[in-house]
Amino acid sequence: MTRIAIIGGGISGLAAAFELEELRRNTSAAVEYVLFEASDRLGGVLRTESIDGCIVEAGPDSFITEKPWASDLCRELGLGEQLIGSNDAERKTYILTKGRLVEMPDGLMFMVPTKIMPTVMSPLFSWTTKLRMVKELFLPKNYGPDESVASFVERHYGSEMVDRLADPLLSGVYGGEAANLSLRAVLPRFHAMEDSHGSLGRAMLASRKSASQKMSAEPRKPAPPLFTSLKNGMQQLAETIVPRLKGTLLTNTPVQALQIEAGDWVVSAGMQSDSFDSVIIALPAPAAAQVLRIVSPALSAELEAIQCTSSITVGLGYGREVRQALPPGFGFLVPRSEGKKLLAATFVHNKFPDRAPDDRALLRCFFAGRNAESVWTLGDEQIIGIVRNELQQILGPQLRAEPLFARVYRWKSAMAQYGVGHLDRLDRMERLRQQVPGLALAGNAYRGIGVPDCVRSGRDAAKSLVGT
Ligand SMILES: Cc1cc2nc3c(=O)[nH]c(=O)nc-3n(C[C@H](O)[C@H](O)[C@H](O)COP(=O)(O)OP(=O)(O)OC[C@H]3O[C@@H](n4cnc5c(N)ncnc54)[C@H](O)[C@@H]3O)c2cc1C
Repeated sequence: MTRIAIIGGGISGLAAAFELEELRRNTSAAVEYVLFEASDRLGGVLRTESIDGCIVEAGPDSFITEKPWASDLCRELGLGEQLIGSNDAERKTYILTKGRLVEMPDGLMFMVPTKIMPTVMSPLFSWTTKLRMVKELFLPKNYGPDESVASFVERHYGSEMVDRLADPLLSGVYGGEAANLSLRAVLPRFHAMEDSHGSLGRAMLASRKSASQKMSAEPRKPAPPLFTSLKNGMQQLAETIVPRLKGTLLTNTPVQALQIEAGDWVVSAGMQSDSFDSVIIALPAPAAAQVLRIVSPALSAELEAIQCTSSITVGLGYGREVRQALPPGFGFLVPRSEGKKLLAATFVHNKFPDRAPDDRALLRCFFAGRNAESVWTLGDEQIIGIVRNELQQILGPQLRAEPLFARVYRWKSAMAQYGVGHLDRLDRMERLRQQVPGLALAGNAYRGIGVPDCVRSGRDAAKSLVGT
């Protein structure tokens, strides 16, 4: 019997445990496992509350449909009927520009314009940036080393594009800043486009041309929704996995250290220790670095060097008047140059209409990185005060209304930042990991921060140890 310890009970650890169950069932692998979770609940940052008829997400609210691993897991769990798509007919995002909400022009693919007129007419960009978009079409190929997303975007479209689009869009995903994120790790597709065409605009036109040739040969399918979620919220995923797990699940059991003694892994948690053949570490990078300090100081140091940012979400419910006063669309992003604490707000009742009754407005506001740190020590009431004040400034006096409810959720160092050179770091880490038999790593610090990537990483970690 192979004994495996899974450390961390977020979605990465739960996906690993689920995969071990599947391997037991489908291959008769002789495996038993113990999952160690520091807190009193399983699911990690997947947390949903039902308040006043609204489904309020404390952590992730959905995942990108294009990455299949989370939806596949939901279907395997029998949750296929519970999957919901974002209401893309209402998909509009605004960028706060000089204090005013300006709609992102139609046809922008991240920052690459694919439709001329909406971009030319948009007040989001100055004429200098619009001219840069034209000049960008003539950029030569470039094979430089890894660089920050900010420097890449600046080379192509100038600094206004970094401030108005690249930085706010990435803040919403990584909670970090474009100046600190690796192009190759975060936007590999754009890196490849530059490799093949030089100009992103030209690469986009070429890929659209080949896609439209394929489409004319095939029957046209409706585009899937951009985001997928679960009817009862993201916590439903964790809640459905847990009863399927036959292994030992220990909550309130933080692992302090790992050691290898006579070829066995010894897991120390509280006053107890237990021996295992292998270990899956499904923790955020700082916690993973901590538990690996004795077994592999070099791997621990690499993990420690992966920066993580903290984030705060604030869920606010309002009545009919506010709902009617809000603009259509999914919400807005706030460039740092606007000098606000808020980085983004989602109009949840538009993005996922089932998440709020018809007479309610449900807003999800987001702080991360430096902005989250600057309010971290404040009490919930003060944070809610800041959010309400900024919402009034951005959305107008209707937002003076007293919210029906307001909740603050804090996530310390939960989002990994893939800094410049991240992929080289992963290569070094992989070599170090191979020197430690029976170790697998899963979570958001490696090859994708979103829920689908975490699911994939957990399941792959389990497979790698059982040898399929
Ligand atoms: C506010 C927020 C919004 C997000 N929004 C989205 C989104 O909309 N879409 C999307 O796809 N992704 C989103 N993400 C990213 C995604 O949710 C996470 O990357 C993913 O859920 C991380 O899962 P995990 O299991 O790797 O880590 P976690 O969920 O952080 O779980 C790690 C677990 O390990 C436990 N732990 C820590 N130390 C120890 C220890 N020493 N011993 C035992 N247990 C320990 C923790 O208590 C925790 O339960 C968001 C993240 C945050 C924070």
